[in-house]
Amino acid sequence: MPTSPVVTRFAPSPTGYLHIGGARTALFNWLFARANKGTFLIRIEDTDRARSTPEATAAIFDGLEWLGLLGDEEPVSQFARRDRHAEVARQMVEAGTAYRCYSTVEEIEAFREQARAEGAATLFQSPWRDADPATAPDLPYVIRLKAPREGHVEIQDHVQGNVVWKAETMDDLVLLRSDGTPTYMLAVVVDDHDMGITHVIRGDDHLINAGRQALIYKAMGWDLPEFAHIPLIHGEDGKKLSKRHGAVGVSEYRDMGYMAEAMRNYLARLGWSHGNDELFSTEQAIEWFNLGGIGKSPARLDFKKLDSVSAYHIKTATDEGLYAELLAFINSQADLQFTDAQLAALKTALPVLRERSKRLPDVLAKARFVLEQRPLDLDEKAAVALDNVSRSILKQLTTRLQNDSWTLDSLEASVKAFAEAENLKLGAIAQPLRAALSGTTASPSVFDMMVILGKNETLARLGDVAP
Ligand code: GLU
Repeated sequence: MPTSPVVTRFAPSPTGYLHIGGARTALFNWLFARANKGTFLIRIEDTDRARSTPEATAAIFDGLEWLGLLGDEEPVSQFARRDRHAEVARQMVEAGTAYRCYSTVEEIEAFREQARAEGAATLFQSPWRDADPATAPDLPYVIRLKAPREGHVEIQDHVQGNVVWKAETMDDLVLLRSDGTPTYMLAVVVDDHDMGITHVIRGDDHLINAGRQALIYKAMGWDLPEFAHIPLIHGEDGKKLSKRHGAVGVSEYRDMGYMAEAMRNYLARLGWSHGNDELFSTEQAIEWFNLGGIGKSPARLDFKKLDSVSAYHIKTATDEGLYAELLAFINSQADLQFTDAQLAALKTALPVLRERSKRLPDVLAKARFVLEQRPLDLDEKAAVALDNVSRSILKQLTTRLQNDSWTLDSLEASVKAFAEAENLKLGAIAQPLRAALSGTTASPSVFDMMVILGKNETLARLGDVAP
């Protein structure tokens, strides 16, 4: 258990939709903060003005909101903090840990070419690093970090272990550009420091940055945060995740009708484990989450597994929880519109609709019997099931049901007794009955439907097909 209060952050660049990998990073940071009674923050890394868009920011928040992963405080805009970043760069110049470099792009290229010709290291070594400030020209300059020329940089990573870079592989990275704007590397460090971030949990594509960022922390005399660089998610074929693997944006998963609770379970297992537990609630994930449970090898997307996680959560959610998720799904889909009466009917029928449903659209497909008004439109299979023989069977059954007490047990007993008396298989009655009550041949059990519809509605629907 960390000693100081934990503060984590999710720091997306708003250049597109919320990627499934980003959602997982957000979830791990959120879980770690919750597990340690800490704080989870969001920082929008919008310093790159050309690539950042308000639409992307909105899409990211939309995805985070759906997953229940909004920050505990107002989100921070990195761009809004640019003056502070510049101030830190200037402080570093004053402290002698950074310097003004006046080398032009052409000079840097010439340096590299010569180094290549001599077979030497091509990392740029600025002549201004040790120049006397009195000799500084009145020309544009960038501010560069004075990276150590000897020794090594090291971080202890909770996933990757001890990671070491030799000083000679680190250049004097640019902190402030000649137009006065901060580089990404500087901005991240200053923001993480100022926001009091104690744990940086992010994709391992940023591992190399951690070494360079560590140099900035050291130059400022700031404590390094704890790092956990998580392996990226791979597609089902084991290759790095890309568009061709199918859904990579979080909103696509919402549109497919996965519940947020199921997504949190599934995403938590993408790279983290707690013993052999596959199916768990968000509360359990909070209780169990630790950095030690993050694996070293890339997790693979597995849609079959996602479906089974999803089916489990649809089955085990509380009625209120499931209804809230279903309503959120309905509201997110422009083509789904229901009246209040239909929504109320959906709510009542949920206990039978959730059975054997993999995703929320399956729940809705089964709900047709409570959503539609009589006389029902029969789909093609239902029409076939309701041939003349079947209709006359249903007519007889209707007579029998008139005086039945309307409970699951007595209805089941009654229909079975009728089948026996008429020497019919149960299916010969159930299939047309199903068609008459739901207008389709795929529905919840006929007895469940009869109880939910009630006696009057059931008999009226039977009367519609077997007058
Ligand atoms: N903005 C970076 C990204 O979207 C994340 C930076 C970080 O987590 O340090 O990949």
